[in-house]
Parts: sequence; C-alpha cells; structure tokens
Amino acid sequence: MAVSRIISSLLSRSSPATSALGRRSRVVQRWFSSSAAAVDEEAITPPVQIHYTKLLINGNFVDSASGKTFPTLDPRTGEVIAHVAEGDAEDINRAVSAARKAFDHGPWPKMSAYERSRIMLRFADLVEKHAEELAQLETWDNGKPYQQALKAEIPMFARLFHYYAGWADKIHGLTVPADGPHHVQILHEPIGVAGQIIPWNFPLLMFAWKVGPALACGNTIVLKTAEQTPLTALYAAKLFHEAGLPEGVLNVVSGYGPTAGAALASHMDVDKLAFTGSTETGKVVLELAAKSNLKPVTLELGGKSPFIICEDADIDKAVELAHFALFFNQGQCCCAGSRTYVHERIYDEFIEKAKARAMRRSVGDPFKDGVEQGPQIDAEQFEKVLHYIKLGRDSNANLECGGNRVGSKGYFIQPTVFSNVEDNMSIAQDEIFGPVQSILKFRDIDDVIKRANATRYGLAAGVFTRNIDTANTLSRGLKAGTVWVNCFDVFDAAIPFGGYKMSGIGREKGVYSLNNYLQVKAVVSPLKNPAWL
Ligand code: ADP
Repeated sequence: MAVSRIISSLLSRSSPATSALGRRSRVVQRWFSSSAAAVDEEAITPPVQIHYTKLLINGNFVDSASGKTFPTLDPRTGEVIAHVAEGDAEDINRAVSAARKAFDHGPWPKMSAYERSRIMLRFADLVEKHAEELAQLETWDNGKPYQQALKAEIPMFARLFHYYAGWADKIHGLTVPADGPHHVQILHEPIGVAGQIIPWNFPLLMFAWKVGPALACGNTIVLKTAEQTPLTALYAAKLFHEAGLPEGVLNVVSGYGPTAGAALASHMDVDKLAFTGSTETGKVVLELAAKSNLKPVTLELGGKSPFIICEDADIDKAVELAHFALFFNQGQCCCAGSRTYVHERIYDEFIEKAKARAMRRSVGDPFKDGVEQGPQIDAEQFEKVLHYIKLGRDSNANLECGGNRVGSKGYFIQPTVFSNVEDNMSIAQDEIFGPVQSILKFRDIDDVIKRANATRYGLAAGVFTRNIDTANTLSRGLKAGTVWVNCFDVFDAAIPFGGYKMSGIGREKGVYSLNNYLQVKAVVSPLKNPAWL
C-alpha cells in the first residue's frame, strides 16, 4: 500500500488502523493518551529510556575530545530532553581514522557479500523488535506524530535495510568486449570511507537512505546527524553493532554543521560525501569537498514542488491529497507539494474545501492519538515559517485560515492556507518548510507546465487528473526528479529520489544509490582468447 495511504489512514481520527493496534502496542496505549489534544497541557513523557548520548566511534560510545555537550530539545516545549556529546573536528578525525582502519584492514569490505547482507537483515529484525523505542525517541526529538513514526516510518526504515541487504550479494562487475586481443574486466569496488550528513526532518529514514547502500557496497561510514535530532541514529547504530557489524564500520558523530559537518565535508581522508539538507548548505559542502580532496558528492536539497490539479479531478480526493502533500510531517518535507495549482473551473470549490480540511487538521501533542500535526522542529524554523506567513499576509494573497501559533509554548503553528497566490510572491518561490499551503489558479496545461518549471528547484511534482494524456503531457513536461500522478509521497525503497536543478546532484534509493558508493575499475590485459561477450 502506498505510504501516503497508510499515513492518511493512521492519522484520521476514526482510523481502524489506529484502534486495531497490535498486542504489543496495547502496553504503549497506557501512556499513549487517546483524549483530545491541547498543546498547553503538560507534555506526555514517553517511557523510552535515553541510554545513548555519546559519540559512537570504533564501536564504542565515547565522550567528545573537548568534553563538550549540547542539549537536544523537545519541540513541544523547548525543554531539554538530554545532553549529547558535541563532536567537532577532532572527533571527526577520530571517526574517520576508525572508518579508514575498518576499510583498509577490517573484515567488512573483504567479508563475503552474503555475510554482510545477513548482518543487515539481523539489524532490520532488531529494528522491528525495538520499533516502539525508536518511534518514541523519533517523536520526542522531532515532534512528528507518534503513529506516523511507529506505523509508517519505522517499518519503512526496516524495509530499506531489507532492500539493501538484498542488493549486497548482487553487486558485480562486467566483462566487456574490446578491440584487439584484450581481456577487459570492469570491477565494481567499494569507494572507501563515506562521509554522510543528514537533516532533522526524517532522522531515521535519512539514516537508511545513506547507510543502507553504503554498507551494501562494502564501504565504511562516518555519519554526522543533525544537531536537532541526534538520538535515534545513536540507538540504531547500537542495534547495528548488536547485529554483528564490525567495529569502525559505522561511526556516528553528533554535532553542529559548521564545525563537525564542515570537518567531515573537507576531510582529506573521506572518499565520498553524501548530504541532505538545504540548498544553501549543499553549496557550502560541495565547495568544501572541491577545495579539499575533490571527493565525489551527492546532494539532496530543497524544493518548491508544484501539485497540479486538473479540471477533471475528483475534487474531494484532490483536496485530501493536496492537503497531505503539503501538511504531512508539519510541512517539513523537501518534496512537499508547496505550490498547489488548481484549474480555474474548480478553483473556488477547491479553496472552500481545502480551507475546511485545514481547519479540521488536529494540532497537538504528537504522542496523543488522532493528532495529525505536532510542533515545528525548533525556534528558528518556527520563526521562519511565521515570517513567511507575514510575507503572505502583506501580499495580495488571501489568508483563508490559520496564520498564528497554537498555544503558548513549543513550536506549534496553525495549518495555514493562502489563496489568490501569484507565482512571483515569496510564498510561491521560497521553501517555507512549514504548514503553509499556497494555492494558485491556472487555465491552460502548457502554461501551467511553464509556470511550474519556473523555479530554481526541481525535486518533485504532483499531478491529479483522470485523463491519461494530460497525465502523460504533464509528467513529461515537468522538470523534476519525481512526478507523482494521482498520488503523492510514495516512497518505495526501489524508487530513485533526487532533484533536477538546484534540488541536488545524483539519486538516492533504488538501484541508483549503489553507483554513489562504488568505484569502477577497468582491468585490461592482452589475452589470446579474450572474452567477446
Ligand atoms: P536546515 O536549514 O534544514 O537545518 P541544513 O542544510 O542547515 O538544513 O542542515 C542539514 C545538515 O547539514 C545538518 O546535519 C547540519 O548540521 C549540516 N550542516 C549545516 N551547516 C553545515 C556546514 N557548514 N557544513 C557541513 N554541514 C552543515
């Protein structure tokens, strides 16, 4: 089933999926309240214990070289959840040395691919066993609805490792015919030490998108988590070691971007860099990689994705899907459908229904049953979203609903809808990364393609129509790495993801992610009877 459908059904108040939680989850129900959500009530404390707050280097949890820590905050309240070791350049050096040793001398790249895949499968099993703890930590640190974390994201996290474990023993080279009596083998070798920098909006899923293919290909890793959400990667990495991952293969350094992140991007002994985050920071890390050792870089960056709703659409379904495309995960998705283009013939009805849907969206403590929207990640993002709402109010756009914070603590924002939005407005140009839907009007398909493409981004797009030719014309014309037709946010492990233009370089997931972590070596030798095929 499409993840979007799983998520929508899980979050709807009367969802059978929510009420039919399994036996294990009934224990959770004791603290997972089902009463109505009010953000100013006392925040629910989940039962999970926070055991892992140090850096994970060479298989051991260690303090940072400086001894410094930083607080990770609960976005529901702004209060401290835990103090976490703060990695810096010296810790990145230690982690890279451990990863180098594990690559050059350790068993990992030389281990049989089957054995590597078995470790990854054991890890995925442990993830399923510890799904509730992982989901509780993810919600606590990030603010996303607990049911979304538990029922959609953790299963997808495990699924991604099943998928990449499946690839580990199917990666192989080629024998190619060449002119002359030459035998040519093309070897696909692991690239070495991979540096990976991930963001805060999907801490575990971003871990999987990066760690999964790198390990399947036999690389070793230094992962730098986002400073807002360090907790689940440490827990997951601990489970990986329990599953039999040799020491030094996966090192996790918590810390800030300009210190730990920059040290990783510019490290001379890191062979490859994978980054997910904003376009601005993507440019910085690309430059750091170029100025140091020219390590290859993959970038998954920002977006301002159009979602085009044609005149033949079933309006109720289109409203629900456009709502999901924007508001899912508090609007904190790089691929959010943040420019909703609606055909003029259905525009007025769509606006009324989109507004009604946004006003029904339940905002509150993400640990409460039925809550669809938790807080934004931190004060900075909260202020940024409110700033864009102000820009929207100050423009000619109509504020249909929302526009304010919810409650008096934490970072909750009302689901906000603007109609009458024009292409040149800031709310139609910039990535807001919050619960703000901008709805624009269109008349003509060719014209809407031009308008949809008139952006520096090209991450994703959505199309809603019953006409197969319209769907084909739009999906061929849109310059975006993913086009969802009559669906949105469908993230199967096998589907490649990445952007055109300033939304990034390269693709992750699917078979495409393997190329990011492999070197290609041609071995050429004269031979009497070279292979021709
Ligand atoms: P956002 O603005 O959404 O927080 P960023 O692109 O700033 O996104 O952050 C994504 C990741 O990049 C985080 O792990 C962050 O710590 C890291 N980061 C931020 N600045 C830098 C930098 N100068 N060098 C390397 N990594 C960075």
